[in-house]
Amino acid sequence: MIRSIIIILGTMLLISENGWSQHICGGVVGNREAFQTRLKQNVKQAKLNYSLKSSQETVYIPVKFHLVADSDGVGRIDYNDVFDELCILNSQFESLGMVFYIKDGFNDFDHTPTYEAPRRAGASARMLQEITKFGTEAVNIFVTQNADTGNTDNGTTLGFYDNNNDYVVIRKNQVGSSGSTLAHELGHLFSLNHPHYGWEDQPWDLEVHGKVVRTQVVNSSQSTGSVRVELVDRSNCEDSGDFICDTPPDYNFGFTWDRACPKFNTVVLDRNSDTIVPMQNNYMSYFLGCEPYAFTQDQVDVVIADYNSNQRSNLRSDYVPTVNIIEEELVLESPANSATTDFFNGIELRWTEVANADSYYLNFSGAGEDLRYIVNETAVYITDLSPNVVYTWSVTPFNETGGCGEKQSAILRTNDLETSTVDPAIDGSIVIQPNPAFISDNLNIYVESEEQAQGQYLMTSINGKVVVNKPLLISQGNNHIKVNTTDYSPGVYLFSILTSKGVTTKKVILQ
Ligand SMILES: [Zn+2]
Repeated sequence: MIRSIIIILGTMLLISENGWSQHICGGVVGNREAFQTRLKQNVKQAKLNYSLKSSQETVYIPVKFHLVADSDGVGRIDYNDVFDELCILNSQFESLGMVFYIKDGFNDFDHTPTYEAPRRAGASARMLQEITKFGTEAVNIFVTQNADTGNTDNGTTLGFYDNNNDYVVIRKNQVGSSGSTLAHELGHLFSLNHPHYGWEDQPWDLEVHGKVVRTQVVNSSQSTGSVRVELVDRSNCEDSGDFICDTPPDYNFGFTWDRACPKFNTVVLDRNSDTIVPMQNNYMSYFLGCEPYAFTQDQVDVVIADYNSNQRSNLRSDYVPTVNIIEEELVLESPANSATTDFFNGIELRWTEVANADSYYLNFSGAGEDLRYIVNETAVYITDLSPNVVYTWSVTPFNETGGCGEKQSAILRTNDLETSTVDPAIDGSIVIQPNPAFISDNLNIYVESEEQAQGQYLMTSINGKVVVNKPLLISQGNNHIKVNTTDYSPGVYLFSILTSKGVTTKKVILQ
């Protein structure tokens, strides 16, 4: 599949902006004992179900992305980064038979504490509220500016999993191009530990631990109690380190290792004098730059056991989302690139329909504005733009599983003319019957014009979606237009007639 290629794009696992970081993953926060208990149950269950592994069918996992901005609405991640992330994520989990899909759109909310310091209590309370409202039947992922407490560690933690409330928080700079941070955090969500569990705060150090590591137990702020030091011969793998036997011992060698990920060639021996060979490209390790990353078979089995556990029944349903990859290129048709529009507050945009896309993300950016629309149609009538602005507008085709569609952009200049200019030949003459109307009714629209004109008529929903757009030859005198509304949702619509002299609009209510 094409998705497999995309994984190559992920070149920056767990890299902090501040060079060597104190924490690259905030790990599992909340009740760690409960987490360990869940992990142990899943390890046990994975063994019981071993014979069923090959018959594991593809499972579709609903995800609610909560895209957080500060309280002024500033700083929210670009939706395109989220689509890119989903494309990468689904390639990463393809071999596990897991497909993630967007459940009922994005949840955008504005809350500075969550945006800047999601580890604080006020933030966690707010996130819980959002989950209760929008995310009870999904994996919940919060995309924020920071992923830490807002104190001195700001900027060093890239993501974490909250075990008490079962959500993941990830920094927005890790979403879309960085590759593996989200896969790592979802590994935690599905009950995986770091292979170097217990060594998070005290990576192996020759001066401290020696070439032969005789230490029996370790502790870290991310572990509960003492953790036994794992041995190469697997004799204690079931109750040491990450409890997973096919991940080799790792005493957090990745923490100080070269980011270019050369082979780990420092000779370190366990207390049996067996040489340790860590799995550098494990998603749950701290080694950087080791693409392509992988989960081991035992990790996969544990993830699947967690998905199938009683407490995850909220993620399971018979629903099958659109999984097709969007390969066709979208073309922006109108306005032409660099065109100046006739009016700044009434612009029709058109692009080509693209196979395998369910929806389109339309974005305007310019002069500090960031206007976002998600539409199902390939034409939209926009009334929200400002005068005399050079905008970049872009359209991205997508579907529930992301679709890996490519964004197309163009420049658009607005002038300072308003479309409120009403065509005087038509002004006040539009009559709609019946109004309000039932959607099963046909609308009869009567227009009296003082002169003949070439134009078009539009019906737009209150959100700016164009539901009808047809050319119209207006005769002098009485005109009768019929609109079939059986396919529309109830709501308020605007019926407009556009001619070269202006726009005349009348409200119509469908019920
Ligand atoms: Zn982690």
